[in-house]
Amino acid sequence: MSLVLTVDGDRWRGHLRDVAERTPGLVPVAKGNGYGFGLARLARRTAWLAEQVGGGDVLAVGTYDELPEVATRYGGSLLVLTPWRPFGAALDLDPALARRVVHTVSRPEDLAALLERQPDARYVLELVTSMLRHGMTGRQLRDLGGLTARGRLEGVAMHLPLAQGSHLSQVHRLVTDVVAAGLPTRSLWVSHLTPDELDRLRASYADFEIRPRIGTDLWLGARDALRVTSTVLDVHAVERGDVFGYRSRTAPKSGHLLVVSGGTAHGIGLEAPTGEQSLKARAATLARGGLDAVGFVRSPFSIDGKQRLFAEPPHMQASMLFLPAGARVPAVGDPIDVRVRYTATAFDRVDVV
Ligand SMILES: *Cc1c(COP(=O)(O)O)cnc(C)c1O
Repeated sequence: MSLVLTVDGDRWRGHLRDVAERTPGLVPVAKGNGYGFGLARLARRTAWLAEQVGGGDVLAVGTYDELPEVATRYGGSLLVLTPWRPFGAALDLDPALARRVVHTVSRPEDLAALLERQPDARYVLELVTSMLRHGMTGRQLRDLGGLTARGRLEGVAMHLPLAQGSHLSQVHRLVTDVVAAGLPTRSLWVSHLTPDELDRLRASYADFEIRPRIGTDLWLGARDALRVTSTVLDVHAVERGDVFGYRSRTAPKSGHLLVVSGGTAHGIGLEAPTGEQSLKARAATLARGGLDAVGFVRSPFSIDGKQRLFAEPPHMQASMLFLPAGARVPAVGDPIDVRVRYTATAFDRVDVV
């Protein structure tokens, strides 16, 4: 049985259109598990957005390995966010895609090596930011010399940390580096800037084209359009002391065991037993004989709005929950809500309704 992502199609598409309309130069990002929707669906949706709103000339993917899945469903340019290296998947690029792909180059030696292999390569140069992930320093940019006149330099890219205060002073410093290096481009590919920061950037650098790369706020920005459900597959009444589960535990009190769809294969995991952390609070829980005191851990499944406890760690495709006596017992076949990290969940089905 299934773990299902149900999407309110009108709402979701309306949100996508809104974001595209108010974000000139938008570069949708489709990577990993496709933010829960799958890469193929996001590629088709990007093509649809381009038809609806215009723009949409580039779709970004995370890795070279992700290119085949999107390339047949979306016809524009494909930016690869993982920097090009002279080894691995980058070298196995399908020649039929070579003219559509924009490489990210983050080291001077890689630019020389890429241009040697593909003299007409399209690329953006990544600048190192306070994230210290990938990218060149201002000095390395200046030292590139005539290399940047070769191939097709499509801009400079900066991957900023998730917002903690404004990013703008950092962006200003980086743009100063770009100008000082005399790079023959006026395109800035940026991530994680707020709409307000983007407006201010456009105002400060009217001669630059700003390309915001957005994944989460685009695909997952309308949370009320999304619902994740599991299905109750079985219900067993238990008395205190009854044995159950892979580890032959015993029920700490009477109630019901529920077997519900969704397990480790979907990315369902144990939740940290957070909340009441202090020693005093733990002691009070023990005194009350709370279920967390007997080792039951909070699950991401909730019934009637209340988050329920795992009776044991999740199985591969199903989970066992414990419902204490007194709670309403759902029927086999009922859907129950699950809270997930969309970027780390493999849904069995995505239903757009
Ligand atoms: C993933 C990624 C993005 C998009 O990030 P979101 O937080 O999903 O919007 C932008 N730029 C780079 C380089 C990325 O790797």
